[in-house]
Amino acid sequence: MALLETHDLTKEFGGIRALDDVTIDVESGELVSLIGPNGAGKSTLINVITGRLSPTRGEIYYDETDLVGMDPFEIAHLGVGRSFQTASIFPELTVRENVTVAAFATEHGSFSLNFFRRRDSYDDVHNRTDDILATIGLEEEAELAAESLPYGDKRRLEIAIGLATDPDLMFMDEPTAGMSPSETEMAVELIHDLLAEWGTTIFLVEHDMDIVFDVSDRIFTLHQGRLIADGTPAEIRDDPRVREAYLGG
Ligand code: ADP
Ligand code: MG
Repeated sequence: MALLETHDLTKEFGGIRALDDVTIDVESGELVSLIGPNGAGKSTLINVITGRLSPTRGEIYYDETDLVGMDPFEIAHLGVGRSFQTASIFPELTVRENVTVAAFATEHGSFSLNFFRRRDSYDDVHNRTDDILATIGLEEEAELAAESLPYGDKRRLEIAIGLATDPDLMFMDEPTAGMSPSETEMAVELIHDLLAEWGTTIFLVEHDMDIVFDVSDRIFTLHQGRLIADGTPAEIRDDPRVREAYLGG
Protein backbone atom coordinates (compact mmCIF):
# COMPACT_ATOMS: atom_id res chain seq x y z
CA MET A 1 0.00 0.00 0.00
CA ALA A 2 1.14 3.57 -0.73
CA LEU A 3 1.76 6.02 2.14
CA LEU A 4 -1.47 7.85 1.27
CA GLU A 5 -4.39 6.52 -0.73
CA THR A 6 -7.82 7.87 -1.45
CA HIS A 7 -10.51 5.79 -3.12
CA ASP A 8 -13.50 7.39 -4.85
CA LEU A 9 -13.34 10.35 -2.49
CA THR A 10 -16.36 12.60 -2.88
CA LYS A 11 -17.32 15.81 -1.08
CA GLU A 12 -20.55 17.67 -1.68
CA PHE A 13 -21.47 21.09 -0.32
CA GLY A 14 -25.23 21.34 -0.82
CA GLY A 15 -25.58 20.98 -4.58
CA ILE A 16 -21.88 21.48 -5.34
CA ARG A 17 -19.73 18.40 -5.83
CA ALA A 18 -16.33 19.80 -4.89
CA LEU A 19 -14.67 16.36 -5.11
CA ASP A 20 -16.00 13.72 -7.45
CA ASP A 21 -14.66 10.16 -7.04
CA VAL A 22 -11.04 11.19 -6.53
CA THR A 23 -8.64 8.24 -6.36
CA ILE A 24 -4.98 9.06 -5.77
CA ASP A 25 -1.94 7.52 -4.15
CA VAL A 26 1.28 9.05 -2.81
CA GLU A 27 4.40 6.99 -2.13
CA SER A 28 6.69 7.72 0.81
CA GLY A 29 9.41 10.23 -0.17
CA GLU A 30 7.55 11.54 -3.21
CA LEU A 31 6.89 15.18 -3.99
CA VAL A 32 3.51 15.37 -5.66
CA SER A 33 1.77 18.51 -6.80
CA LEU A 34 -1.92 19.15 -7.23
CA ILE A 35 -2.92 21.66 -9.90
CA GLY A 36 -6.18 22.91 -11.34
CA PRO A 37 -8.19 26.10 -11.84
CA ASN A 38 -9.67 28.08 -8.94
CA GLY A 39 -12.58 26.18 -7.46
CA ALA A 40 -11.32 22.83 -8.79
CA GLY A 41 -11.42 21.32 -5.28
CA LYS A 42 -7.73 21.43 -4.34
CA SER A 43 -8.16 22.94 -0.86
CA THR A 44 -11.20 20.74 -0.26
CA LEU A 45 -9.11 17.64 -0.98
CA ILE A 46 -6.52 18.72 1.59
CA ASN A 47 -9.23 19.63 4.11
CA VAL A 48 -10.90 16.26 3.74
CA ILE A 49 -7.65 14.28 4.02
CA THR A 50 -6.49 16.24 7.08
CA GLY A 51 -9.85 15.83 8.85
CA ARG A 52 -11.11 19.42 8.70
CA LEU A 53 -14.01 18.31 6.52
CA SER A 54 -15.62 14.90 6.44
CA PRO A 55 -16.09 13.26 3.04
CA THR A 56 -19.57 12.62 1.68
CA ARG A 57 -18.24 9.19 0.70
CA GLY A 58 -15.03 7.41 -0.19
CA GLU A 59 -12.00 6.12 1.63
CA ILE A 60 -8.72 7.60 2.86
CA TYR A 61 -5.77 5.54 4.11
CA TYR A 62 -2.58 6.91 5.57
CA ASP A 63 0.07 4.31 6.36
CA GLU A 64 -2.72 1.71 6.21
CA THR A 65 -4.80 3.58 8.80
CA ASP A 66 -8.35 4.55 7.83
CA LEU A 67 -8.59 8.33 8.36
CA VAL A 68 -12.31 8.76 7.75
CA GLY A 69 -13.97 9.85 10.98
CA MET A 70 -10.74 10.90 12.71
CA ASP A 71 -10.40 14.46 13.97
CA PRO A 72 -7.60 16.79 12.78
CA PHE A 73 -5.56 16.33 15.97
CA GLU A 74 -5.55 12.55 15.65
CA ILE A 75 -4.53 12.80 12.00
CA ALA A 76 -1.74 15.28 12.81
CA HIS A 77 -0.56 12.91 15.50
CA LEU A 78 -0.17 10.13 12.93
CA GLY A 79 2.35 12.35 11.09
CA VAL A 80 0.21 14.30 8.63
CA GLY A 81 1.02 18.01 8.74
CA ARG A 82 -0.03 21.06 6.82
CA SER A 83 0.98 24.58 6.15
CA PHE A 84 -2.08 26.75 5.85
CA GLN A 85 -3.20 28.86 2.94
CA THR A 86 -4.60 31.36 5.44
CA ALA A 87 -2.66 32.31 8.52
CA SER A 88 -2.58 30.09 11.57
CA ILE A 89 -0.13 32.41 13.29
CA PHE A 90 -0.59 33.97 16.74
CA PRO A 91 0.36 37.56 15.81
CA GLU A 92 1.45 38.74 19.25
CA LEU A 93 3.64 35.76 20.06
CA THR A 94 7.23 35.70 18.88
CA VAL A 95 8.35 33.57 15.96
CA ARG A 96 9.90 31.08 18.38
CA GLU A 97 6.79 30.96 20.57
CA ASN A 98 4.59 30.25 17.57
CA VAL A 99 6.70 27.25 16.58
CA THR A 100 6.99 26.06 20.18
CA VAL A 101 3.24 26.16 20.74
CA ALA A 102 2.67 24.01 17.65
CA ALA A 103 5.36 21.55 18.76
CA PHE A 104 3.85 21.35 22.28
CA ALA A 105 0.40 20.72 20.93
CA THR A 106 1.68 17.78 18.90
CA GLU A 107 3.53 16.14 21.78
CA HIS A 108 0.48 16.30 24.00
CA GLY A 109 -2.58 16.17 21.82
CA SER A 110 -3.56 19.65 22.82
CA PHE A 111 -1.82 22.66 24.23
CA SER A 112 -1.96 23.03 27.99
CA LEU A 113 -0.14 25.32 30.37
CA ASN A 114 0.54 22.30 32.59
CA PHE A 115 3.08 21.44 30.02
CA PHE A 116 5.51 24.13 31.19
CA ARG A 117 5.95 22.25 34.47
CA ARG A 118 7.31 19.21 32.69
CA ARG A 119 10.96 19.89 32.10
CA ASP A 120 11.92 16.82 30.04
CA SER A 121 9.40 17.31 27.30
CA TYR A 122 10.07 21.05 27.40
CA ASP A 123 13.70 20.45 26.39
CA ASP A 124 12.70 18.12 23.51
CA VAL A 125 10.30 20.65 22.14
CA HIS A 126 12.86 23.41 22.49
CA ASN A 127 15.46 21.48 20.52
CA ARG A 128 12.97 20.75 17.80
CA THR A 129 12.02 24.43 17.65
CA ASP A 130 15.68 25.39 17.16
CA ASP A 131 16.09 22.81 14.37
CA ILE A 132 13.02 24.07 12.58
CA LEU A 133 13.98 27.73 12.83
CA ALA A 134 17.40 26.88 11.39
CA THR A 135 15.91 24.86 8.52
CA ILE A 136 13.45 27.60 7.68
CA GLY A 137 16.04 30.35 8.04
CA LEU A 138 14.19 32.33 10.70
CA GLU A 139 16.83 32.13 13.44
CA GLU A 140 17.57 35.83 13.43
CA GLU A 141 13.88 36.66 13.57
CA ALA A 142 13.16 34.19 16.40
CA GLU A 143 12.49 36.79 19.10
CA LEU A 144 10.43 39.16 16.94
CA ALA A 145 6.66 39.36 17.25
CA ALA A 146 5.13 37.35 14.40
CA GLU A 147 2.98 40.30 13.35
CA SER A 148 6.08 42.41 12.68
CA LEU A 149 7.44 40.04 10.01
CA PRO A 150 7.36 40.89 6.32
CA TYR A 151 4.88 38.88 4.26
CA GLY A 152 7.31 36.26 2.94
CA ASP A 153 8.67 35.56 6.42
CA LYS A 154 5.12 35.13 7.71
CA ARG A 155 4.50 32.53 5.05
CA ARG A 156 7.71 30.78 6.05
CA LEU A 157 6.60 30.89 9.67
CA GLU A 158 3.40 29.11 8.62
CA ILE A 159 5.54 26.38 7.07
CA ALA A 160 7.59 26.27 10.30
CA ILE A 161 4.40 25.83 12.30
CA GLY A 162 3.42 22.98 10.00
CA LEU A 163 6.86 21.41 10.45
CA ALA A 164 6.66 21.72 14.24
CA THR A 165 4.09 18.96 14.19
CA ASP A 166 6.93 16.73 12.87
CA PRO A 167 5.09 15.42 9.83
CA ASP A 168 6.09 12.51 7.60
CA LEU A 169 3.63 13.84 5.05
CA MET A 170 3.29 17.61 4.65
CA PHE A 171 0.51 19.37 2.77
CA MET A 172 1.37 22.83 1.47
CA ASP A 173 -1.52 24.85 0.06
CA GLU A 174 -0.10 27.56 -2.20
CA PRO A 175 2.97 28.27 -0.06
CA THR A 176 4.30 30.89 -2.49
CA ALA A 177 1.03 32.83 -2.94
CA GLY A 178 1.77 36.56 -2.73
CA MET A 179 5.51 36.08 -2.34
CA SER A 180 8.08 38.19 -4.17
CA PRO A 181 10.39 36.37 -6.61
CA SER A 182 13.21 36.17 -4.03
CA GLU A 183 10.82 34.95 -1.33
CA THR A 184 9.50 32.36 -3.78
CA GLU A 185 13.03 31.19 -4.52
CA MET A 186 13.65 30.74 -0.79
CA ALA A 187 10.42 28.80 -0.40
CA VAL A 188 11.39 26.47 -3.25
CA GLU A 189 14.79 25.90 -1.66
CA LEU A 190 13.00 25.10 1.56
CA ILE A 191 10.84 22.52 -0.19
CA HIS A 192 14.00 20.92 -1.60
CA ASP A 193 15.57 20.93 1.89
CA LEU A 194 12.53 19.29 3.41
CA LEU A 195 12.87 16.42 0.99
CA ALA A 196 16.64 16.10 1.15
CA GLU A 197 17.29 16.65 4.85
CA TRP A 198 14.07 15.66 6.54
CA GLY A 199 12.82 13.03 4.10
CA THR A 200 9.38 14.57 4.31
CA THR A 201 6.83 13.44 1.72
CA ILE A 202 5.34 16.59 0.22
CA PHE A 203 1.91 17.25 -1.25
CA LEU A 204 2.00 20.68 -2.85
CA VAL A 205 -0.79 22.86 -4.22
CA GLU A 206 0.82 25.51 -6.39
CA HIS A 207 -0.22 27.85 -9.19
CA ASP A 208 3.27 28.68 -10.42
CA MET A 209 3.81 26.09 -13.15
CA ASP A 210 7.57 26.74 -13.32
CA ILE A 211 7.80 25.60 -9.69
CA VAL A 212 5.44 22.68 -10.22
CA PHE A 213 7.32 21.37 -13.25
CA ASP A 214 10.66 21.94 -11.51
CA VAL A 215 10.06 20.19 -8.19
CA SER A 216 7.41 17.52 -8.74
CA ASP A 217 7.89 13.79 -9.12
CA ARG A 218 4.24 13.50 -10.12
CA ILE A 219 1.39 15.91 -10.78
CA PHE A 220 -2.33 15.42 -10.18
CA THR A 221 -4.73 17.63 -12.11
CA LEU A 222 -8.19 18.41 -10.76
CA HIS A 223 -10.94 19.99 -12.83
CA GLN A 224 -14.41 20.56 -11.39
CA GLY A 225 -13.72 18.07 -8.63
CA ARG A 226 -12.56 15.30 -10.95
CA LEU A 227 -9.04 13.95 -11.34
CA ILE A 228 -8.42 14.46 -15.07
CA ALA A 229 -4.73 13.55 -15.16
CA ASP A 230 -1.97 11.98 -13.04
CA GLY A 231 1.56 11.80 -14.42
CA THR A 232 5.14 13.01 -14.51
CA PRO A 233 5.79 16.67 -15.35
CA ALA A 234 6.61 15.70 -18.96
CA GLU A 235 3.36 13.73 -19.27
CA ILE A 236 1.26 16.50 -17.74
CA ARG A 237 2.82 19.21 -19.89
CA ASP A 238 1.73 17.34 -23.02
CA ASP A 239 -1.66 16.14 -21.80
CA PRO A 240 -4.38 17.69 -23.99
CA ARG A 241 -7.02 17.59 -21.20
CA VAL A 242 -4.71 19.46 -18.84
CA ARG A 243 -3.80 21.99 -21.51
CA GLU A 244 -7.44 22.65 -22.22
CA ALA A 245 -8.60 22.80 -18.60
CA TYR A 246 -5.70 24.64 -17.07
CA LEU A 247 -2.62 25.47 -19.07
CA GLY A 248 -4.48 27.55 -21.64
CA GLY A 249 -4.33 25.52 -24.86
P1 ADP B 1 -9.55 25.32 -4.98
O1 ADP B 1 -8.77 25.19 -3.72
O2 ADP B 1 -9.15 24.35 -6.04
O3 ADP B 1 -9.57 26.72 -5.53
P2 ADP B 1 -11.83 24.73 -3.28
O4 ADP B 1 -11.54 23.37 -2.78
O5 ADP B 1 -11.58 25.86 -2.36
O6 ADP B 1 -11.08 24.96 -4.67
O7 ADP B 1 -13.35 24.81 -3.71
C1 ADP B 1 -13.99 23.81 -4.52
C2 ADP B 1 -15.48 24.12 -4.62
O8 ADP B 1 -16.11 23.87 -3.37
C3 ADP B 1 -15.80 25.56 -4.97
O9 ADP B 1 -16.97 25.57 -5.77
C4 ADP B 1 -16.06 26.19 -3.62
O10 ADP B 1 -16.92 27.29 -3.74
C5 ADP B 1 -16.72 25.05 -2.87
N1 ADP B 1 -16.45 25.10 -1.40
C6 ADP B 1 -15.24 24.98 -0.81
N2 ADP B 1 -15.36 25.02 0.54
C7 ADP B 1 -16.69 25.17 0.79
C8 ADP B 1 -17.46 25.27 1.99
N3 ADP B 1 -16.88 25.21 3.21
N4 ADP B 1 -18.79 25.41 1.87
C9 ADP B 1 -19.39 25.46 0.65
N5 ADP B 1 -18.74 25.36 -0.51
C10 ADP B 1 -17.39 25.22 -0.46
MG1 MG C 1 -7.55 26.52 -2.70
